[in-house]
Amino acid sequence: MSEISPEQMAVLSGKLRGRRAELLALLRAARKDSGRDNLQQASGEVGDPGDESLALQLVDLNLAERENEVRELRAIERALERMRENTYGDCIDCGCAIPYARLEAYPTAERCTECQARHERVYGGRDVTPTL
Ligand SMILES: [Zn+2]
Repeated sequence: MSEISPEQMAVLSGKLRGRRAELLALLRAARKDSGRDNLQQASGEVGDPGDESLALQLVDLNLAERENEVRELRAIERALERMRENTYGDCIDCGCAIPYARLEAYPTAERCTECQARHERVYGGRDVTPTL
């Protein structure tokens, strides 16, 4: 079970949403620079940069040159989804509560320090996050 207070959750949620807005702005700019209309399949022009469906459209794109940003955006979407489902802050491997200090430093953390270390030993130094 999560030990995070509603106030702490609000702080983390704010961090995630702020970072998401930054990434969306960056990916939008990248889309313009690329000279290709990557959003062709998305109907019409997209609206509010905070719009969740826009985020989902963008993460579906194959913005290979922005792989890191897309990966981070996906991680943020998953974190916000876990907040909605009240599972945020629980390690996805062992189910224990991830300490608030870790979440504050790394709001998209899905695992406790121990499980993350084990995960990285198995999958290499890079965080390989499973797709939804
Ligand atoms: Zn764990």
